[in-house]
Amino acid sequence: MQTNFSSDQLADPHVAESEKILRKCVHCGFCTATCPTYVTLGNELDSPRGRIYLIKDMLENGRPADKEIVTHIDRCLSCLACMTTCPSGVNYMHLVDHARAHIQETYNRPLLDRLTRAMLAFVLPYPRRFRAALKLAKLGKPFIGLFEKVPALKPLGAMLKLAPASIPAASPMASPGVHAGQGAKKGRVAILTGCAQSVLDPAINDTTISLLTRLGVEVVVPPGEGCCGALVHHMGREETALASARQNVDAWTRSIEQGGLDAIIITASGCGTTIKDYGFMLRLDPAYADKAARVSALAKDITEYLASLDLPEPVRRPGTVVAYHSACSMQHGQKIVRQPKELLAKAGFIVREPREGHLCCGSAGTYNILQSEISAKLRDRKVKNIEATGASIVATGNIGCITQIASTAKLPVVHTIKLLDWAYGGEPPRMS
Ligand code: SF4
Ligand code: SF4
Repeated sequence: MQTNFSSDQLADPHVAESEKILRKCVHCGFCTATCPTYVTLGNELDSPRGRIYLIKDMLENGRPADKEIVTHIDRCLSCLACMTTCPSGVNYMHLVDHARAHIQETYNRPLLDRLTRAMLAFVLPYPRRFRAALKLAKLGKPFIGLFEKVPALKPLGAMLKLAPASIPAASPMASPGVHAGQGAKKGRVAILTGCAQSVLDPAINDTTISLLTRLGVEVVVPPGEGCCGALVHHMGREETALASARQNVDAWTRSIEQGGLDAIIITASGCGTTIKDYGFMLRLDPAYADKAARVSALAKDITEYLASLDLPEPVRRPGTVVAYHSACSMQHGQKIVRQPKELLAKAGFIVREPREGHLCCGSAGTYNILQSEISAKLRDRKVKNIEATGASIVATGNIGCITQIASTAKLPVVHTIKLLDWAYGGEPPRMS
């Protein structure tokens, strides 16, 4: 695609990066076929190609974001299916991240939208605040119908609907410390404790630590780590996201220097996509660029890491039929496609893949709160495809997908690690 940026504009490294991306797009439109919002809404401006044109126009003319571009960029799930499909290697992720930061800087959203976003950014990345908010949400549940009738309050209704009826107790295993591996030492890893997942389902990381230590891997929970920054990054709050990234880079760098790390284990693929991008996000910060690149290189999804180990034979072969839902951040963001299915099959599960597996379930960070109508359409389509597999359980590797699919699916939804842990001698999974 031809671009027309001035040399002054290209002096800004963010613009220069976006220009490089834009030039790769050849307008072929292959990406439209796999874009969930185009498939759902049928509007070219809600397709990757349409959004690329809108972003190009906004950046080239150096103008503030307007209502039209905000509408169509807000509707993008950042699912990155377009990147999997694109034959020209267009890095839509970095382009839309830039557009979102530009929107955040230059567009004055309506008051309620601003308040909702500020509240999400204030609450979700902090486990204590999130836990308190979930307790409060119970009081608000009777008013869901009321909130859903007022367009500006729909996000509040969506949030209350998603809030679970009960909240598990915080896990002591998530506290900073070292969990020694059993038997001969097979490796040493750090684990991301994260934010929302540690509140909604602390058993995911507990199970991961339990399985890894049984396999002889030492697991470090480093002090000082926190939210990966993805939630605010996708809202265009660049500086807040970078502050989270720096905090985590510091925490993991200390662990690397104190005893070495073979990997940084991530059990939520949404976080994994962002941490693997820290090297890019912090490339312009001389104090962090190298450290961030090292952290990104060490970041591994738990299934990616397990697949690299020489696993023993499973203790039991459950034979359960499992529908494997590949989160977008797993298959498109990190290109991890094979490992989770192979691990499940090796552990004795019968793995089925739902139709339209490339399409997002509509969770996408805060998307199911901020774009609840499109999100609900995608969720219903996903659940229908999952139920059609005839499986008796769903496995997936991202807490957002678990919450979203479990909100309407008739079958239980669990993190993949819980099924693997069960097969390798752990407790049967508690169902979501
Ligand atoms: S990230 Fe997903 S929703 Fe956004 S343009 Fe690409 S395919 Fe469409
Ligand atoms: S598939 Fe790639 S090159 Fe083709 S229109 Fe989409 S982004 Fe551009």
